[in-house]
Amino acid sequence: MSKVVVVGSYVVDLMSRTPHLPKPGETVLGGPFQMGPGGKGGNQATAAARSGSEVTFVTKLGDDVFGREALKHFTKEDVNIEYIKVDPDQSTGAALIEVDEEGENSIVVALGACGTISEAEVVEAEEKIKEADIVLLQLETSIEAVVTTVKLARIHGVPVILNPAPYQEFPKEILKNVAYITPNETEAFELTGIEVTDEGTALTAAQMIHDLGVDSVIITLGGKGAFLYTGGDKGELIPSFTVEAVDTTGAGDAFNGGFAHAISNGYSLKDAMKFANAVAALSVTKIGTAPAMPYKNEVEALLAKTLK
Ligand code: AMP
Repeated sequence: MSKVVVVGSYVVDLMSRTPHLPKPGETVLGGPFQMGPGGKGGNQATAAARSGSEVTFVTKLGDDVFGREALKHFTKEDVNIEYIKVDPDQSTGAALIEVDEEGENSIVVALGACGTISEAEVVEAEEKIKEADIVLLQLETSIEAVVTTVKLARIHGVPVILNPAPYQEFPKEILKNVAYITPNETEAFELTGIEVTDEGTALTAAQMIHDLGVDSVIITLGGKGAFLYTGGDKGELIPSFTVEAVDTTGAGDAFNGGFAHAISNGYSLKDAMKFANAVAALSVTKIGTAPAMPYKNEVEALLAKTLK
């Protein structure tokens, strides 16, 4: 079983349906209400664990009811919680999500404790980073945590996947020590100024990102799949699986968790992306983020079906 370390965010998703998104000053009677574990780091850790990896999650929670629920969730998922800090002075992060009848949403993410992971808190997990087969990072936490993790992974020769989501500025020098980067179309635009609309523009953007020092650039393209570029004048689209999509929130997280599992288990790049596409496709057939992540047997069944 491969060892994956995820450093990043945990937030509780607090989701309510609403007849319409409230205007400033308006109170709307909505419902039903749904609560569940979320945050990019937590979702990706859950996806990698359900795929079959041994996962350590480094994050920070508040000493409150949401933090305690998070610890229960990761324990149930067999994720190592040894490096999840509980900070009594902060609250657990929360995403306040409203979804209207057309499926349009508006979200406020209050990162709380997980937005303040310090260098010292990442260094506490150095032994786990050292032992890992892969380290998986997003940008939904402090840049200090991201930079420190990349530095420790480089020292110990552990490959890094950076999912640059949600995009925020970061020191681009770290990209020389990033083996795989996985932006979606929006994040690829933020990184390059190129509007990714098809394979041609994906190639141009991927080449620019590759020039920043990343070995393998993977641009996820929603329902189309994901575009792989590793150098030269060509890339390749690895197509997604056709499924009945009911909620695409968390699809990128499913892709990253699945990819981390597969690449750290010795899959080729293309096969790892195929596995990641399958994890992501299954995740969009269910509502929610972390709870919608599929298990290994479901992913294998989908992959086997397409081989026939
Ligand atoms: P995105 O963040 O929207 O680029 O999506 C990430 C990944 O999720 C894609 O690369 C696909 O593998 C998968 N995905 C997203 N939307 C769909 C969909 N409608 N059907 C199947 N797979 C999807």
